[in-house]
Amino acid sequence: MKIMIHGGFFSESNQSEETKRLKQDALGEIVQKSHHFLLSNTALDTVVYAVQLLEDHPLFNAGIGSQLQKDGKIRMSAALMDGRSKKFSGVLNIESIQNPIHVARALQMVDDRVLGGEGAINFAKNIGKETVNVEIPERRKEYENRVKSAGIGTVGCVVLDNKGHLAAATSTGGKGFELPGRISDSGTVAGNYANDFCAISCTGVGEDIVSGALAAKIVTRVTDGLSIKDSFAKSFQELKEFDGFAGAIGVDALGNMYYQESHPKIVYASFDGVNLSVFS
Ligand code: ASP
Repeated sequence: MKIMIHGGFFSESNQSEETKRLKQDALGEIVQKSHHFLLSNTALDTVVYAVQLLEDHPLFNAGIGSQLQKDGKIRMSAALMDGRSKKFSGVLNIESIQNPIHVARALQMVDDRVLGGEGAINFAKNIGKETVNVEIPERRKEYENRVKSAGIGTVGCVVLDNKGHLAAATSTGGKGFELPGRISDSGTVAGNYANDFCAISCTGVGEDIVSGALAAKIVTRVTDGLSIKDSFAKSFQELKEFDGFAGAIGVDALGNMYYQESHPKIVYASFDGVNLSVFS
């Protein structure tokens, strides 16, 4: 059983060392709580559980605490992939829903599994999700100061469960100050992907992650026999051609956990029941 989570990039932000420490503490706590959950739950349910905790935490740019777009509204994206069933589900540009990952979870059960905008909001309401204000004063202040990418801090989780199944989940408030209608990688197979061989969650500049087809590419390389380390290395090498800004966490079917970033530093934590690693 293996679990790894991320809280997005830190170094590009203007946040203090104190915030960084708080983020690390939160990641450490959440990864251990999620590992405990994993003891009696599947990889799929565990990635949802971990991402929900991260969405509920105002320090991270997902759910509560999401960044505002150019028009002052918050639109969030989230995706979930079950490595076992090979089902990808996601929401793009959903508004006023505290846990977009819950909506992605519910979409696993229906035919139309990727919804955007109004359709995503209506689906969330139909499954009983309340609409809430996910804006916090800090993000409004950053917006008013026009602080672009104040805290690129998407969240994600990859898990290998005790039956050997893999899953990945990612959730974001976006890159901040983007044009309404912009599509985040986090709701696509470029930012979040899993199968029987590997599970990947990305963070960084969505346009670069989509251009590099990052999550799907790393997973494909592992599937075709490359080690997780070499798959990351080759895929990140390809990002260099256009100075792509991205980070990713991953776990393979053998339980190898790995992460890489194009520019330091992604904040992440992993826990295997004994060893807790919290880095940035
Ligand atoms: N990848 C996200 C996006 O571009 C932002 C992030 O990871 O912080 O929407």
